[in-house]
Amino acid sequence: SSSPAPASLSFKSLPQPVSIPTGLFINNQFVAGRGTPILSIDPSNGKSVLPSSTTVAGASKADVDDAVAAARLAFNTTWGLNVTGQERSRLMHKLANLIEANHETLSLVEALDSGKPIGWSRADVTDMVACLRYYAGWADKIIGQTLEVNNRTKQCFTKHEPIGVVGQVVPWNYPLMMLGWKIAPALCVGCSIVFKPAENTPLSTLKIAELIVEAGFPPGVFNVVNGLGAETGAALASHPDIDKIAFTGSTQTGRAITIAAAQSNLKKVTLELGGKSANIIFPSADLEQATNWAALGVFENAGQSCSAGSRVLVHESIKDEFERRIVEAAEKIELGHPLSETTWQGPQVSEQQYNRIMEHIRIGKEEDKARLLTGGERWGKEGFYIKPTIFTDVKTDARIAVEEIFGPVLVILPFKTEEEAIALANSSEYGLAAAVHSKDADQIGRVSNLLDAGTVWINQYTFTANNVPFGGYKTSGWGRELGSYGLEEYINVKAVHWNMGERTEFPCKL
Ligand code: NAD
Repeated sequence: SSSPAPASLSFKSLPQPVSIPTGLFINNQFVAGRGTPILSIDPSNGKSVLPSSTTVAGASKADVDDAVAAARLAFNTTWGLNVTGQERSRLMHKLANLIEANHETLSLVEALDSGKPIGWSRADVTDMVACLRYYAGWADKIIGQTLEVNNRTKQCFTKHEPIGVVGQVVPWNYPLMMLGWKIAPALCVGCSIVFKPAENTPLSTLKIAELIVEAGFPPGVFNVVNGLGAETGAALASHPDIDKIAFTGSTQTGRAITIAAAQSNLKKVTLELGGKSANIIFPSADLEQATNWAALGVFENAGQSCSAGSRVLVHESIKDEFERRIVEAAEKIELGHPLSETTWQGPQVSEQQYNRIMEHIRIGKEEDKARLLTGGERWGKEGFYIKPTIFTDVKTDARIAVEEIFGPVLVILPFKTEEEAIALANSSEYGLAAAVHSKDADQIGRVSNLLDAGTVWINQYTFTANNVPFGGYKTSGWGRELGSYGLEEYINVKAVHWNMGERTEFPCKL
């Protein structure tokens, strides 16, 4: 099918308009889609991002079949076992350089489409480039083991092979960063990819698709199927010729994907899901620093972060002082248009997310199990903005203390003893991250040992690094992203037993 016309977006800070592809991307070409088209909304005003309400193609089940067929063909002929690690590394470095050359354009598109402030958007693009380079460095260092079974007559070794065709489904909170975290390890080991961006934020991914062609990746190695979760995402999860699904998003959708994967071909699944992470502040902590990290931890990206430190557990002896400081921090946050250089917090990504968060705030106010300290209402006249919101003296069974809100809403829960703090932190169904703020080294060691969380930050929050694994305990997910651990999720281990002369009789002696 022929490619739909690209749309043109103008930015005040760029000399030329940016051309945005609006098709699906299959076999290194933009093509029309047969699924439900997507209207991408600018969350700062609720209007279409693209001029004249131009839509982006959505992929039907048949389109997903085409993309998977392209990915399979590439895997079998020009990618997978047919290409050296050195060549994969070269292509990935080329892509990283091209992204860097288009850094500002990509940052602007990302900010406009997702509502993320431009400064944060630039940081995400920088992170994506670094992630590609990190894994480009691994591509010619994929090594198995040799294992002793008999020193004279047998040889045994493992080969680390790419898992095959992978489906990758990502959310809208870090569209480009999640793209980097997903595609870099997969390309590194030689998997081919069918990628589904979130329906709210497809535009930056389509710009990356252009750069995939320019970098010289063979057709079919990286394909993009935009579309709705229930249509396009579900078609990927249940596809009989996809070998693995890597997913980031809600726990509910993670469950649906896992069930579809199990019922089709039992494809492998890795999941990076929700959280209700606890920031624990002990009396010895540097309170100024603990406050700064706590505010960053929950209000960054308008609270739309899986690892958001959305619960602060604070010792009762410092609670009043902490409340005073964190309210001051929250009220200092500058809300504004995502493209304004001084904006620290932009709008929530969509009207739906805005409504979900406001509903939680309403429950928080009405349930009578918490006290509102600041915020709790919309900001501005248009768009999906919510003021940084803090509830304190929150009861442990309040819905706002238990459920993931995914917005700029912090709940403060006081505690008396270390044991109580640990129990409270671990009482969540989730286990993505946690933090300990203290100057007592023994206490830091004791508490971090007992936290059920995939990441424990000590005297900081929110920091990730490409060489450090990230992922969750409990309902926060399966598997790890980043680092060498992230690579393993895209590898099949083949054990080779080689006989070099040992003979057998049949029936053999027992
Ligand atoms: P979601 O999990 O439904 O969407 C994430 C991605 O999954 C999107 O690309 C979507 O199209 C796709 N998807 C949806 N249904 C699918 C299905 N049945 N099969 C395959 N793919 C499917 O998240 P959402 O509805 O955008 O947000 C809802 C909540 O999810 C948020 O309020 C938040 O709590 C959580 N969330 C978490 C993260 C995270 O980083 N862990 C990111 C976004 C949202």
